[in-house]
Amino acid sequence: MIVKMSPTASPSERGAVSEALAQAGFEVQPVALPFGSFLAGLGPGEAFAGKLRAMAGVEWVQPGESTPALGSLEANPGRSTVAIGSCLVGGPSLAVMAGPCSVEGPTQVQTCARFVSAYGATVLRGGAYKPRTSPYSFQGFGREALEMLQEAGRAAGLPVVSEVMDPGDVEAMAPFVDCFQLGARSMQNFPLLKAVGRTGKAALLKRGPSAGLAEFLLAAEYLLLQGNPNVILCERGIKTFETATRNTLDLNAVPILKARTHLPVVVDPSHGTGRRAAVIPMARAAVAAGADGLMVEVHPDPDRALSDGDQSLTLAEFRQLMDEIGPVAEAVGRSLAAPRQGLRQTGSGRRGLGWGAAG
Ligand code: PEP
Ligand code: MN
Repeated sequence: MIVKMSPTASPSERGAVSEALAQAGFEVQPVALPFGSFLAGLGPGEAFAGKLRAMAGVEWVQPGESTPALGSLEANPGRSTVAIGSCLVGGPSLAVMAGPCSVEGPTQVQTCARFVSAYGATVLRGGAYKPRTSPYSFQGFGREALEMLQEAGRAAGLPVVSEVMDPGDVEAMAPFVDCFQLGARSMQNFPLLKAVGRTGKAALLKRGPSAGLAEFLLAAEYLLLQGNPNVILCERGIKTFETATRNTLDLNAVPILKARTHLPVVVDPSHGTGRRAAVIPMARAAVAAGADGLMVEVHPDPDRALSDGDQSLTLAEFRQLMDEIGPVAEAVGRSLAAPRQGLRQTGSGRRGLGWGAAG
């Protein structure tokens, strides 16, 4: 049960609603968000909504447990924007989060950072703690990788996003990242969602490989309920019977989510396809569908990547992606952030920036 209080509600009106919820057996949790002041009543009891609606100072009540509330357009009829450092996600300009699947060494991540920044990326991505299907696969370089990512981001003037897998890592990771990535496999790791929610930092919540959109939106409620409005949804493909691609990128999610939530929606065509050749076309399609941004994997030498090389764009291909999404963005009333001309190098692609062995 979520109750949105009127902005003019008096403290005694809030107190009365809170008391009524408590007396009806709900655990009451106040939630202050930029788009409204709410009282959450945790527990069953749909029948009680009518009484609450009649109380002074109450603007709106969402009684359902299985319906998104704080993320809904009823809670905030506007559109939320989320700042990841200097990058505003959900504004007129597209957010482009680019970088390697995994941080493999200082040279690799710095090369990526400089290049993607020069060609218009707005956030640097890079995995330090990797959720791998097999325990025998590369698991990420952990804290060392976070330091390299932060350093590369600073040098290239880009904020950074990296995945957190363990609630116990949230606090230690917070100083290194501008945005926590909650990976597809963690979409329903509720203690993790709560821990990230409590930090108040931006969170990029990826859709679970087998999650419906209703479950995806309810996962976002866990973050919002902590009073953290900085939630970005990311469509990254779902499991289907199709074997030609790693996942099936569900671009239906973009307009459907936009019709149900005020939260920004970005698309990851790298994991959504698993195939390098499909990434640029699906990135164009995502922008055309109205996505607020993209997350793409880029590697200076994908054939030697320690994870997800098959779906990683080369540096030259990233530049091509940026060139190709520009006109699409314009056609749907969006723009790209101006590239950092000063950082541009002559030549592009694997050799252009002199990428050597991973550190
Ligand atoms: C990733 O971004 O590298 C990743 C593991 O993504 P996902 O959680 O979508 O599989
Ligand atoms: Mn990856």
